[in-house]
Order: sequence, then structure tokens, then C-alpha cells
Amino acid sequence: MHYKFTTWFTAIYLLLFSDALFGQPANSPFDLHPPLSGELLLSGSFGEVRASSFHAGIDFRTDGKIGQEVFASEQGYISRIRVGGTGFGKAIYIQHPNGLTTVYAHLDRFLPEVENYVKEHQYKQKTFDINLWLKPSEFPVKRGELIAYSGNTGSSGGPHLHYEVRSTKNQIPLNPSFSNLEIKDNLKPVINGLWVYPIDELSYIHGINIATEVNVHQNKGSYFTTDTIEVQGVIGVGVKTYDYINKGSLRCGVYSIKKYVNNTLTYHFCVDQFSFAESRYATSHLDYALIQQSGKRVHQLFKDPNNRHSGFKSLVSNGRIHVKPDSIYNVSIEVADAYGHSSSIGLVLKGKNFEIKTPNSITIPTELSDPAWLFYNDNSKTTDWFSVFIPKNSLYDNIQFTYDVLAPIDSTFSPLIRIHNPNIALHRPYTLAIKADSVPDELTPKALIATQNGKGKIVSAGGKYTQGFVEAQVNFFGDFFITVDTIAPIIKPLNISNNRNMNEEASINFEVRDSLSGIASFEGAIDNNWVLFESDPKNNLLIYKFDSKRLEKNQKHNLKLRVTDHKDNVSEFSCSFYW
Ligand SMILES: [Zn+2]
Repeated sequence: MHYKFTTWFTAIYLLLFSDALFGQPANSPFDLHPPLSGELLLSGSFGEVRASSFHAGIDFRTDGKIGQEVFASEQGYISRIRVGGTGFGKAIYIQHPNGLTTVYAHLDRFLPEVENYVKEHQYKQKTFDINLWLKPSEFPVKRGELIAYSGNTGSSGGPHLHYEVRSTKNQIPLNPSFSNLEIKDNLKPVINGLWVYPIDELSYIHGINIATEVNVHQNKGSYFTTDTIEVQGVIGVGVKTYDYINKGSLRCGVYSIKKYVNNTLTYHFCVDQFSFAESRYATSHLDYALIQQSGKRVHQLFKDPNNRHSGFKSLVSNGRIHVKPDSIYNVSIEVADAYGHSSSIGLVLKGKNFEIKTPNSITIPTELSDPAWLFYNDNSKTTDWFSVFIPKNSLYDNIQFTYDVLAPIDSTFSPLIRIHNPNIALHRPYTLAIKADSVPDELTPKALIATQNGKGKIVSAGGKYTQGFVEAQVNFFGDFFITVDTIAPIIKPLNISNNRNMNEEASINFEVRDSLSGIASFEGAIDNNWVLFESDPKNNLLIYKFDSKRLEKNQKHNLKLRVTDHKDNVSEFSCSFYW
């Protein structure tokens, strides 16, 4: 009964979507006014796989500049405004009567009346980070109307406009490539790597149990391989591929990947829409171990058992090839962009029966390993030194859990605890608790779990002291230990000093840094009244912009800035100035 209802619902929804609402054929359902003027150049495509997420929108280039005019794609009203130092930075959501919401992110600034509205709320709530839901009557917009200026705010790596089209009722992002937006694409996707994987310990490539890169050759835009790969057992393949939309566009992701084995389609992954809850499956989609080791992003054309992303359109044996001795497998991979261009490459696998002595890569790093942990169960381990709890469905596949307890590194408060294998991805965080016997009582509030990054630098994994343990939620495997953060953040004034005349300055700027636990909060006051400092964490900046509406001119003022890290270490800066 419920199933039937869903089916009908889907049918009606598709009917509405494809015809009544848009008057467009199903394959180009959105009639969107371009959000930027001039030629639309892309720096990111919809559904492209990032290190730990699928991209929910399109990134438009803004000529390397901030301050380009941004236009509403359809009539409607500003339904939501977000401001924050990370993520979207400054963002506007516009709800349209046609069932869609468009999102414009990393903005530099809003229109003056919207800026004022946001600032009123920031002063009322005494916070920079804000998330406002608005009524239809507050800021109605017309199709094509100027709504904001593009920027580089939040977690943006360079000036651009992040643009999303969502279904309003469930906030599911849809692929804006299928619209009337004129995105000229005249280039085919590039294939620049091919990998062959042994899926289990009893599978081999050229006699060894290690993933192997295959040489890719190119001739006039055609890709090919020349080697026959001898394999045994259960085999997967992977491809490194990008799309360059047009000259001057940056590297984007491909839209669709198909894999044929002896002319049968055994894998097809393609993303037209997905829910934000699915985004983390990116860590299972890509070769996670290779990203850890080299940063290379290879699409694995096989599915981990607990990867439930909705983008798998076809799948035979989860994309795995069960090799029979002396059989030939002609593998063909076809990658396509959303604008009708594709590239392909062939690969020949030959079944063999290797005389294997011992599997030489499966070296359990310690004698301490547990029976297989099934991904669909809760799993836990408690030792004298630590305890781990991994909730069900946090792993993508079953694992043989391993751990080790190693000598402590300098100035830490526990042994080095090696939790499983850093090359294995997790879908959700797990609980790690390390025994805190060596932490002096007075330091327990400052204790946290840390790890060392690739460069050997100690970085916080968070957590806090509770009942004899330091406990944290972590979403990766690796080496962990207890350390303490007793050092307050550093506040460095960039353009202010005591009694300075600030009349020539537009803002008061500080550099703020914290060495370990990170900055948790900041608070600025002028003449003992809270003032808005804008946070730009990627540049370690806090900025107060002079505001003649709220601050009287031609006076001596006093400024206080207080910055607190996640372990309650506080720094304060104060001075007088003229403005
Ligand atoms: Zn983006």
C-alpha cells in the first residue's frame, strides 16, 4: 500500500515537474535566468566528487574577482540568509512559486537593505554566525533582479559563485546543467589514470595482492591501453577522469561513468539529484587509500557493500568482476559530461591461476586483531588503554579490526594508540576513549585527543575528559594520543595600536590563531557595547568595519577583543583609538 502511494506520488511529481510547472521537456526542466552576466564559465560541476562530499551545485567563475553582480534566477522571495566564517560564508536562498529554491553562496555582500536587515539581527543576537528564515513579504524578488555581489567568503578556495537549484519541499539539490542556462561545452572528458584492484586477500594482479596502475595512452583524443593484465579472484577497476567544460574553465567532474564487461553494462553511476545525507558516500566512491597517500582521486567502479548512494543506475555483482582462469574480460569504460560529450577506454583482463606462496601485502600490523567486524552491527573493543565503539553502518565494508599500543611521543599523556588502518574510510564518526591516568588532575579540563598529520604536526581530534578517559568522536582511523592545550589564542593587531587615529581606516583588523584546539568563540566591544567582528577563518582574520550608524564619530573610543579556544584558554586585547 505504502509502496503504491510512493509510486503514484513519484509519477505525479514527474508529470508536474516535466510539463505543468515548467512547460519544458523532461530533459531540460528548468527555465533559469543566468545568475551572472556574460559568458558562464564553470569551475565545478554538479555531483562532482570531492574528498568527502558530492558537489551539490555548480561553481561559476567570476573572472578571479569579487563583487560581480548576482541575479535571481526566477521570481520569488528571499526565504533564508546564512552568514558564517566557514561553509557557504554569506549565502542567499530564494524560494520560487514553481517549487524550486535557488541558492547563491560565498557572496561578498548583499544589497544595502539586506545588509542592514542582517546586521540588525547580528547585533540583536550578538553573533556573526547567523541563519535567518524570512517571510515572503520581506524581500520579494523579480526574475533577473540584482540580489547580491559575488565573493570568496566561507570555505571558498578562490572567488566564485556557488549556485544550487533545490526542490523546495525536501531541499534535494537538482542538476542545474539540465536547464536553459547557456553553458557552452565543447570539450570531452579527460581520462588520465586507470587502476585495477584486488577486492579481497585471495585476489591477485600479476601475482600480487596490491592495487596496480595501468598505463593510459592517448592519441588525438582517443584513449587506450596496450598491456593485458593477468588477474585472479575478484577484481575491480578504477578510473581517474575529469571534464574541462570549455577553454578557460577549470577542472570539473564528469557526469556519468559506465563500465562494460564483454559488452554487458555492469556499472553505471550518474548523479542527477541526491540528498545531503548521501554526500559522505564520496569517501567510499573514491579510492580512499590513494587519496590519503597521494591526493589522487580515482573513481572506483565497484560498490562497497554499505555504500547506499542513489547514483548507481546499473550494477552487476556490485561492479566486481569474478575472474575465471583462462577467460578474457574486455572491459570498456565510458565517461560523459552533462553536455553530450564522452570519452572511453578499453582494458583487457586475462584470468590466471597464480602459484601463490603467501599473500605478501596483507600484513596485519599487530598480533592484536579481532574477528571480522560486520559493518551492519555495532562493534566495540575495550583494552587496558582505550575503548572504541563503532556504531552500525559506520563502516563501508566488514573489517578485521586491528590495533596497537606504541611508545608515547614527547609531551603527550598516553601511549600512541593505533586504531585500525588509516587507509580505511568511515561513513560516520565513532567513539574513541583513551585512558587518562597520566593526565594531572589540574590539566584534565585542557585534555584532548590528538593525532599527527602527514607533516608530523600535532593536530586536535577534539574530545574532552570524562570519568578517567579522554573521549572524542572521530571519523578516521590512525594514530591517536592524549595531549593538553594550555596555550591561549594569539591576537595580533594588524592596523591598530593604542591611541591611534583610525580616521583613514575602513576597518579594524586582527590576525587570530590558536595552536591546537582551535578558536571556539570571539567577542568584540567598543565603548563597552558589543560590536560585529566578521570572521574569516581561512585567512585567520577578525574584522570590524566602521559603522557610523552605531558608533559616534570624532571621539576617543576604547576597544576590547576577547578570543577563546575550545579548551577555554582566553586571550584579550584592549586599546584606545580615535575615530
Ligand atoms: Zn560549489
